[in-house]
Amino acid sequence: AGKKVLIVYAHQEPKSMNGSLKNVAVDVFQKQGCSVDISDLYSMNFIAAATRNDITGELCNPQHFRYGAETMEAFKKGVLCEEIIKEQKKVQEADLVIFQFPLYWFSFPAIMKGWIDRVFVQGFAFDFPSIYYNGLLKEKLAILSFTTGGTEEMFSKNGVSGDIRYLLWPMQHGIMHFCGFKVLAPQISYAPEYTGDKERKDMLLSWAKRLETIWEEQPIECTPPWYFQ
Ligand code: FAD
Ligand code: ZN
Repeated sequence: AGKKVLIVYAHQEPKSMNGSLKNVAVDVFQKQGCSVDISDLYSMNFIAAATRNDITGELCNPQHFRYGAETMEAFKKGVLCEEIIKEQKKVQEADLVIFQFPLYWFSFPAIMKGWIDRVFVQGFAFDFPSIYYNGLLKEKLAILSFTTGGTEEMFSKNGVSGDIRYLLWPMQHGIMHFCGFKVLAPQISYAPEYTGDKERKDMLLSWAKRLETIWEEQPIECTPPWYFQ
């Protein structure tokens, strides 16, 4: 109780499996007395593209635009656009951030990748040398909860798509761990479109059950062997 959760959610359809997984999480956390904030990216019409419009006011170098340098400076001055500032506040408040999404091309949907590109600004999420175990978000937990088209068997070491952990490397290590998050094991709901209703209900139940004791979980050992051995 008293913990704060942010769910960054990317699905166009509330009746989707992703919508149901998101709802399950909201329910469990509310029962726990935790506060839940949701960034429903499609409903918000969240802009995915990282552009000059993310900086309000004058640029440091309008002759040669550098997104990273300009957003870092704008963050310090408090002149990032309102959309980004709002999301950064939500992240700042959260003890746990859950990313709920359907796997698109072995990765996040563009709208969610865009949220990451624009919200995890240098100076806010990381800085140099504040990366990985010293990342600026190191007091927080992150979980990827996603659905796939492919089956669990396809995402095994000898399966056609290879071990699911190969694709978790850029998302969990390159992004979450880089920014300091302690990464909890991913919640993967395989192939909901191709299983029966019973299996889908089971996936939702197992997510609900896991979330009941989520605050007791230890983060994964987020180093190359976890992914590639
Ligand atoms: P939905 O189709 O919305 O839901 C599946 C079923 O669950 C539906 O029948 C729905 O009615 C049912 N359902 C919803 N709620 C409940 C409930 N409470 N109880 C019981 N049933 C319920 N897949 C890969 O594996 N690898 C890829 O690289 C990949 N790339 C993609 C790229 C793109 C651009 C796209 C569009 C898809 C890609 N996919 C890929 C497939 C994608 O990951 C799946 O289509 C998606 O994960 C399915 O999840 P969903 O929430 O959209 O399913
Ligand atoms: Zn790592």
